[in-house]
Amino acid sequence: LCDKNFNSVFLCLEQWEEVSGYDENMNTIRTYQVCNVFDSNQNNWVRTKYIRRRGAQRIHVEMKFSVRDCSSIPNVPGSCKETFNLYYYESDSDTANRNSPPWMENPWIKVDTIAADESFSQVDLGGRVMKINTEVRSFGPVSKNGFYLAFQDYGGCMSLIAVRVFYRKCPRIITNGALFQETLSGAESTSLVAARGVCIPNAEEVDVPIKLYCNGDGEWMVPIGRCMCKAGNEAVENGTVCRACPSGFFKSTQGDQLCLQCPINSRTTSEGAINCVCRNGYYRTDSDPLQMPCTTVPSAPQAVISSVNETSVMLEWMSPRDSGGREDVVYNIICKSCGGGRGGCTRCGDNVQFVPRQLGLTESRVYISDLLAHTQYTFEVQAVNGVSDQSPYSPQYASVNITTNQAAPSTVSIMHQVSRSVDSITLSWSQPDQPNGVILDYELQYYEKDLSEHNASTIRSQTNTVVIRGLKPGSIYVFQVRARTVAGFGRYSGKLYFQTMTEEEYNTSIQEKLPLIIGSAAAGLVFLIALVVIIIVCNRHDSEYTDKLQHYTSGHSEFHPVLQVTPGMKIYIDPFTYEDPNEAVREFAKEIDISCVKIEQVIGAGEFGEVCSGNLKLPGKREMFVAIKTLKSGYTEKQRRDFLSEASIMGQFDHPNVIHLEGVVTKSSPVMIITEFMENGSLDTFLRQNDGQFTVIQLVGMLRGIASGMKYLADMNYVHRDLAARNILVNSNLVCKVSDFGLSRFLEDDTSDPTYTSALGGKIPIRWTAPEAIQYRKFTSASDVWSYGIVMWEVMSYGERPYWDMTNQDVINAIEQDYRLPPPMDCPSALHQLMLDCWQKDRNNRPKFSQIVNNLDKMIRNPNTLKAMTPLVHLPLLDRSIPDFSTFSSVDEWLDAIKMGQYKDNFANSDFSTFDVVSQMTMEDILRVGVTLAGHQKKILNSIQMMRAQMNQIQSVEV
Ligand code: AMP
Repeated sequence: LCDKNFNSVFLCLEQWEEVSGYDENMNTIRTYQVCNVFDSNQNNWVRTKYIRRRGAQRIHVEMKFSVRDCSSIPNVPGSCKETFNLYYYESDSDTANRNSPPWMENPWIKVDTIAADESFSQVDLGGRVMKINTEVRSFGPVSKNGFYLAFQDYGGCMSLIAVRVFYRKCPRIITNGALFQETLSGAESTSLVAARGVCIPNAEEVDVPIKLYCNGDGEWMVPIGRCMCKAGNEAVENGTVCRACPSGFFKSTQGDQLCLQCPINSRTTSEGAINCVCRNGYYRTDSDPLQMPCTTVPSAPQAVISSVNETSVMLEWMSPRDSGGREDVVYNIICKSCGGGRGGCTRCGDNVQFVPRQLGLTESRVYISDLLAHTQYTFEVQAVNGVSDQSPYSPQYASVNITTNQAAPSTVSIMHQVSRSVDSITLSWSQPDQPNGVILDYELQYYEKDLSEHNASTIRSQTNTVVIRGLKPGSIYVFQVRARTVAGFGRYSGKLYFQTMTEEEYNTSIQEKLPLIIGSAAAGLVFLIALVVIIIVCNRHDSEYTDKLQHYTSGHSEFHPVLQVTPGMKIYIDPFTYEDPNEAVREFAKEIDISCVKIEQVIGAGEFGEVCSGNLKLPGKREMFVAIKTLKSGYTEKQRRDFLSEASIMGQFDHPNVIHLEGVVTKSSPVMIITEFMENGSLDTFLRQNDGQFTVIQLVGMLRGIASGMKYLADMNYVHRDLAARNILVNSNLVCKVSDFGLSRFLEDDTSDPTYTSALGGKIPIRWTAPEAIQYRKFTSASDVWSYGIVMWEVMSYGERPYWDMTNQDVINAIEQDYRLPPPMDCPSALHQLMLDCWQKDRNNRPKFSQIVNNLDKMIRNPNTLKAMTPLVHLPLLDRSIPDFSTFSSVDEWLDAIKMGQYKDNFANSDFSTFDVVSQMTMEDILRVGVTLAGHQKKILNSIQMMRAQMNQIQSVEV
């Protein structure tokens, strides 16, 4: 028994001895040592004293020890060992003693068998040649108050020099404007422990609750959300403090920006100002930015000049000397007519015309017409700006007085027929609105409708009634009238048409004297109305036609504002723009007679019914293998329409990388869509089933095909909106084709598929969709390019789920904060770079599909460009695609996790059964254990490299 105390830490049982020795640097050390290699059936234990858990969930143990090489001990029996076992035992209190728990696995839990990297062959307990090994192991989850560790020797010669027991934690930090308390790592190395942050004083959360994750290495990662200094506060001391803006400074919004100095003509009233108030007499409009100086009203316009022409006047002026500090000065015109006999001025009536307008003039000139002749006017030209209405004073103005000249009268607008006979018509009209003086007389011009205006006759009349005689019976005449003053004639009125009586009408009227007068007047009136109606209708017809043309033309160009259609290039037509979508089906999909179709077996489930494989034999053509999508019975008319819309879309495409429509069966039941058959089904499942089986060039070839199909669709102006590996089909030659043109999965009411998250106006496959399409439904070929980047990632990771098990909301947040998926294992840097290009936030910076195709073509031509890989150490934090070996308790479990479980026996039979040995395996070893497929060799080798990296990466926080 070893009963000496080693710092009271260890309890040694059986053959362990506490001795003094030297380490490699000749420092004296105390060690525990055992060396019973000549006796068989050894079972020697040494255990630690009780160690408190202190909240840790995973415990790390670093052991320093040396082991004697069995082969260096002369005549040593075969039972000599070079390894020992590490165990732990959990307990809520320090109850262990010499006999309990018993010295055996179960109750003790074995952590691992520990082997030395280096053993030594020369025993020199005097301490000269000793190789010290350091090994670290971890275990968890632990949950009781504390635990013991024990080391079991079973026939080796070794000394235990030091044991360090620790756990990992993420330190208390202030980052992104929030304080995160110290957080212990989770129970597994891969665990991410979420921690909520608390905003620092005077900061507040932006959008989403602020979170960080503490990883197994005690590092904070994946920040979600952030806190920002509130309005009136700015971030100082490296963003760890939000300080109130000093006096004379302000900050109007929450955010990272610093406090700004108050703009001119404004000041603060206290510290921590969110804006600066304007000095007296200065103002801001609601739309003025707070950093803009406060402004005031403009001074009066300068130098108003008028030029009068008869009853109109042109006013021009210069802008005010002081615009009040604003650029939005406009002018109003106040019109007053003065000297109307009583000396005062009155506002002008509504009939005065202002061109371009009376109020809000942006140019410094106005044309005013329809004034009264020989009248005095005063015009005030006011200057106003955006803050004028806040000032208690009326706007400043400059005024000008004018007197109008004599002017011709305005036009006569109303004329009507008083009576008519076989050879005469009596007409009457109203005075012009503005006679502009005394009307001396009127002049009436008339001519037969069928003759030219040059044959017109005129009559003068001093009153507003005239009898026109000497006309032909039953003839239509055109009449126009104008007034005359001393200033001359006004303009002629518009043309009006009146007809004389026919002889017959006249005779009838003579016979029935009394009724004649009434009758003829009525007939005249009816005729007049009819004429007016005809004129109006003709005009309206005309204008309606013009309107329509206009509408049609402008409507047309508005509809495709930037569409540049290359001659000969077909453009996709949305079947839902057809009034009757069945029409679209007839136009784009060939009707197939059901007798040509032979269904063989069900191969999948579609949105609307089963998907089957079968044969199609069209008359005069070879029989072909096809896929048949069916519409299940009991469908509604809408479902039938939605189902067939996929055919109307697909039928418009013709490209080797877009699934080809053979035709539809709509005239018999069930309704079917028949397409070419794709032997390998959908790409995501196909890749998962063939994990690691393809060369990079084969994968790039598939990606090139998809990009080429998408280029074709984008050129046709078709936006797919749901590009994902699940919607790519693969044929027996590994040709990939874009498919799934159905629209129904976007519809709001279908909640069956969690891939599609409901959003305003439809459902969206979040993980595949560009941020602008998620946020405001901006679906374009550029958003398809984003999805294409995700498909690249799915392909290169052999069907891994994008963003693994993160929630949709966390994906949205992570993308918003510029996180992007890391390169999948074995993914060439050039391909990951192309993915990152597709995931540019600004959609204009993403490559076009044509560029993607060219890029991939170049890679295929120069496979050397695909050799460079992203080094493991540079893998971004999000990479959880390679499992951490230390989370597995055995090599078997680890092989399962890297999906290479089929080689468990091969490893075990060749003694590769501990991580230490596995981590040292070379390519030859992998071949030797019987892994012959190149893809599998690579996968295992990569995982081993990762294992080594993980072993080296351990950084500790000491207990
Ligand atoms: P879909 O309704 O288009 O998503 O189709 C449902 C499933 O049927 C797909 O995931 C494929 O597995 C299978 N499938 C659809 N079309 C074809 C085809 N042309 N060739 C082979 N399998 C297909």
